[in-house]
This record gives sequence, structure tokens and C-alpha cells, in this order.
Amino acid sequence: MALMSPRFKTSSKLVAASNGAVIRKGARGRHVHLIQMTLIDLGYLMPRSIGGVFSPDGVYGDETKQKVAEFQRANNLTPDGEIGRNTMTVLDRICRNYKYIVTLHFRSISLTTVSFSDTYNSTENVYGQYGIKIVFGSGESLMMSNEEEQQFNQVDESCRWEIDDGEVNQLHSTGSPFPSNHIGVYYVKSFSNNSLLGCGGHAKNRPACTVAAAASRWDTAHEVGHVLLTSSFNPVHVSEHQRNLMYPYSRNTGQIPVLTDRQVAQIRRNICCVSM
Ligand SMILES: [Zn+2]
Repeated sequence: MALMSPRFKTSSKLVAASNGAVIRKGARGRHVHLIQMTLIDLGYLMPRSIGGVFSPDGVYGDETKQKVAEFQRANNLTPDGEIGRNTMTVLDRICRNYKYIVTLHFRSISLTTVSFSDTYNSTENVYGQYGIKIVFGSGESLMMSNEEEQQFNQVDESCRWEIDDGEVNQLHSTGSPFPSNHIGVYYVKSFSNNSLLGCGGHAKNRPACTVAAAASRWDTAHEVGHVLLTSSFNPVHVSEHQRNLMYPYSRNTGQIPVLTDRQVAQIRRNICCVSM
């Protein structure tokens, strides 16, 4: 059975569970993390599974088993604490709809190495697993004079959180305007600091980020993550966990990056993350 919920449909193990491949105590990984995150969102608190760099921890231990059984009892399922066809089907039905939306407006002066649809789908999948829908607000190729193009093609500034002047500030005021609770994503050819593939810095009240053409498929989601987490969130990067979206180095893996419960809570509080 194909799963419908954006939280679950990208996990082959959860899809397999809906076809009868039972997930039980001892399992670990993103699929368990997503079940734990969902149970927490549904009000089944899991204090022992919270904390650390993969929080909730993605480990199907006694606490997860107990909460799955509580969920089963509340939904007239056999309370065996395991996730098989019936439990997965009910979870999928309950979580079918997105709970939040984030609207992005894409502006580009450069073609990116990764196709736009790959970048967009990747961003959608990262946030979708936490019930957050990424909405395509608009897309524009920025029409520029030769002079402007020369100026913006390569960003010479270093990455700063709050900007009120300079090149990036000017770039972010180019193109059609959009509401101040939407996020602009500006694609440039490169940064003169070659190790930079993106920057989440933007002017106050104009949420936006900048991404280089050579960025990987996950880097747009990463920069949008900086905008949504804001500069007040600590830690800015999670260098201890490669699977976290906010791992500081770009990577070209097929594995969907994850967020911690704390990051998700902060993102959902952002004015750009609108409850549906
Ligand atoms: Zn970063």
C-alpha cells in the first residue's frame, strides 16, 4: 500500500510496514524517528527518547513500544506495541494532511547544477516529514543589465546574519516583491569564498537566503532552515550528526536529512511557518 502522509511516504521501511513488514523493538533509524516524532506531536510524550543529536533518538526501545501500545489502545487496535499493517494504516490516515505551510519564492540569476525539480522535491521531502508543506510561491529568472549581472553573479561578501546594506541586500530587493512572511531563495553563480554554497543572512523583515549554483540538492533546505531557525537558535549547526539538515557541510547523499524535535519546534514558531 502506498502511504499518503508526507511524514511517512518517503520512508521505504514505513511503506513496507503498511504492507506487513512489522517494525518492532530493536529497530532503529529515520523510520523510527519519524514514528516517535509523530507520536510526540499527537500528545504521547517520550522524555527518554528525547535529547542528543538525533532527537527523538530513532531507537525502538521500551518507551517507544509503550507509547505505540497506548496509541493502539486509543485507536481500537491490538495493543502489541509493534507497527504492522493496521497501525501504520491508521497513523497514515491520521497524519494525511499537512499542518503548516512555508511559501518560497525562487529568484535566479544563474542555472544550478542540480535541477530545480530535484532541489524542490528534496526541500519538500525534508520538511514534509515533519508535517510542513513547502509551497511554490513564484519563480523568476532575474532580468539584469550586464553591469548588475557582473555585480551579483559572484557574491563577494562574507555571510552575515543581518544585513542592511551591501551586495546581498541589494540582490534580495531585486525581482517581484512577495509577502514578508514568505521566504525568498536567490540563486547566484558563486560566492567568492569558494567554501560557501549558501547563506541564510537577510535584511530584517525580509526573510531570504542565497544559494550558489554548485549547491547540492539539500542545500536549499539547509539555507531555508537557517532562515526558519533564525540567528537566535543555538546551535546554529549540528556538526556531530551528518544526517541532520543543519550539518555544516554540503553532502550529496540520497538519504533525506532530519531535524531534531527542538529544531522542529523552533521552525514551527517562525512567522513564515503558517498553521493550516
Ligand atoms: Zn549553514
